[in-house]
Amino acid sequence: MNRLSEIIEALEGFAPKELKEPWDNVGLMVGDRAQKIDKVYVCLDLTTENVREAIDCGADLIVSHHPLIFKPLYSVTEDDPISCMVRAAVKNNISIFSMHTNFDKAEGGTNDLLAHRLGLQHIREYSAAECVDASGTPFSPIGRVGFLPAPVTMEEFLSKVKSTLGCTALKYTGDPFDEVRCVALCSGSGGKEGVYSAFHSGADVYVTADLGHEHARSAYELGLNIIDAGHFETENTICEFLKDLFETNFPDIQFFVSSAKPLYSSFYHLAKATRGWLFFFISLFPFAYKYTKRQVIKC
Ligand SMILES: [Zn+2]
Repeated sequence: MNRLSEIIEALEGFAPKELKEPWDNVGLMVGDRAQKIDKVYVCLDLTTENVREAIDCGADLIVSHHPLIFKPLYSVTEDDPISCMVRAAVKNNISIFSMHTNFDKAEGGTNDLLAHRLGLQHIREYSAAECVDASGTPFSPIGRVGFLPAPVTMEEFLSKVKSTLGCTALKYTGDPFDEVRCVALCSGSGGKEGVYSAFHSGADVYVTADLGHEHARSAYELGLNIIDAGHFETENTICEFLKDLFETNFPDIQFFVSSAKPLYSSFYHLAKATRGWLFFFISLFPFAYKYTKRQVIKC
């Protein structure tokens, strides 16, 4: 019989909560540490859809990457989505546990998982000296730096990132013909600070998500290529990782992975997909015509 306290011990053994950023909220959000756990559901985001899916599969515990509760809740009513999810979890006897920046920073966590998926070698953390902004103000290091086995062009690397992470589209700044060997990365939102740590590390390119005009402008001025590969795509590795962790440590627990897709899509992708279906149906037309004709002859 597995108690929630034993599962928490295993998860925190991998990603100690002391690693979290000061602004973050991680750990047990809803639940009872003495609860018996038979079914676990994992997801990146706690959305209404994911909570409903967890209820439908009879989960006792949801493990999410992004915390359900970031800011204090002054009431738990049906008036806002976060409260609704808390109420739904309590009513269905589901505990909720989140591992966020502690998991990003942990050895083997989201950043290491991303680095390995991109095929990087000699993976390392940022040094303290690399984590300073333009004014020399230090900040907390989150991310990794590593090397591709052989140099490629930026265009080839963009293609690799897109196919490896299953991105529908990528945003980037830089020259497609630049040579890429050293890669800096931060899963999820690397922010402006991430641009500086990547630059100071001497990387040829920085892979992260949620980049805006301000980040692109800073990178441009620093001469750093950057790729926005999407928040979901750079972090959803947590689901497969947790599946392996539970199968190894808690083999009698039933495990469910969220079927959620990224929260936003690329219009280009949708347009391309629609075009693809259109060509598919047009290409069927000669066969359909032939088949119909044969039917007519048979009659
Ligand atoms: Zn995130």
